[in-house]
Amino acid sequence: MTERLDLDPADGPWLATLVQRVHAARTAGDEDEAARLLAYGRAEGGATLAQLADQVLAGLDQRDAARQRGTTMEPFNISAAPEGTLICDFCAGSGPVVYYEVTEFGLSGLGGTWLSGDRFYACPRCRTLVDAEDWKGMRDWIGPKQFNQGTRMIIMGFRQHRRGEAVEFEPGTNPEAGR
Ligand SMILES: [Zn+2]
Repeated sequence: MTERLDLDPADGPWLATLVQRVHAARTAGDEDEAARLLAYGRAEGGATLAQLADQVLAGLDQRDAARQRGTTMEPFNISAAPEGTLICDFCAGSGPVVYYEVTEFGLSGLGGTWLSGDRFYACPRCRTLVDAEDWKGMRDWIGPKQFNQGTRMIIMGFRQHRRGEAVEFEPGTNPEAGR
């Protein structure tokens, strides 16, 4: 039986620990243990974290395959949003109303290099905070537990790579569709 990870899913290291353990189990050929860990992750972390775990694991598979070929992994996109939907890239809230264009940048962590994508979506609250450049307010809104090292690096990257003002779109539409 898989023991619980001794971490709260709201803590940043939870995802990293889950992914590392699944990856280690697979590398050791223990698919049963990997499946148990993933089932546990889905039950405890919910759909959003489970999706991130799946994407990070797929990225690690690519990294391992690249290593075997003697090359390095291509940077890999991950997104917490379920397929075909959008969430706020700052607070992970639903119903973003604007996006900001950014020059895509890479972040290292979770065993690979992850791409930011070229748009940051924002919910109404985060849009207000971004437009006011109220980064302390953003930290308070996201919450100190969620505002971990990864979030800090993502927001720092956004500030350095942002390319302009908020672009509004019709609520309920998906500007990613057909891109
Ligand atoms: Zn938000």
